[in-house]
Amino acid sequence: SDSHFPVPTAPSEVDYSSHYPHYYPSEETGNEVGNSIPKPRFKKIQFADVGCGFGGLLISLSTLFPDTLMIGLEIRDKVTEYVNERILALRETNPGKYQNVSVVRTNSMKYIPNFFEKGQLSKMFFLFPDPHFKEKNHRRRVISTHLLDEYAYTLQVGGIIYTITDVEELGEWMKDCLARHPLFEEVSQKELESDPVVKLLSSATEEGQKVARNGGETFLAVYKRIALSEIE
Ligand code: SAM
Repeated sequence: SDSHFPVPTAPSEVDYSSHYPHYYPSEETGNEVGNSIPKPRFKKIQFADVGCGFGGLLISLSTLFPDTLMIGLEIRDKVTEYVNERILALRETNPGKYQNVSVVRTNSMKYIPNFFEKGQLSKMFFLFPDPHFKEKNHRRRVISTHLLDEYAYTLQVGGIIYTITDVEELGEWMKDCLARHPLFEEVSQKELESDPVVKLLSSATEEGQKVARNGGETFLAVYKRIALSEIE
């Protein structure tokens, strides 16, 4: 249950030095290397992969956006542990790389505002989320009208929410929730084609690869956070 993992009481309480020691060296290591390598000390997390599973997307994004801090939110203990080990091993074998990526065990449906400030994120990912088919379980879906209020709060204006699924009904549901929300606008086909992240949605994650191997169809919904003033 939730009581088994610690939750930061506010975004200012997120322990950046344990997630990103390269960017936030502790006092001790800071004294050793602090003078020679200037560190961008005030970087904040900008990308969140919600329900990151085994972390394939994050690993790909890490090298595509080497100066952006990103985090996976995952509720399963063992899976989070695996992703953490995977990141530490990559840091070890690729010195200087993968320092911008981390993972945390949490329930994203409850605690997103504990991790991120208003307007902090520029990208949020929801790749192959659990479908929760039964009507009475729709409230458990990670995209819903009320959770979109929270995501809109957390995303900066112009920030993008990426969703993909192989379950047609869920794809329609996510698209419908996004389309009806006043603070989100569909990203144009042209923008999608020039966004390098879009290709990764179906190919970078473990679930996406499984779907691709089985020749499954995928359903994409990519929306942009717009400003209140843009609402007609
Ligand atoms: N995004 C990954 C991919 O594409 O391979 C994983 C997809 S998997 C079907 C859904 C993941 O979401 C699982 O790893 C599950 O544990 C996680 N999850 C489900 N509910 C969650 C919640 N409330 N908070 C955080 N993670 C959650």
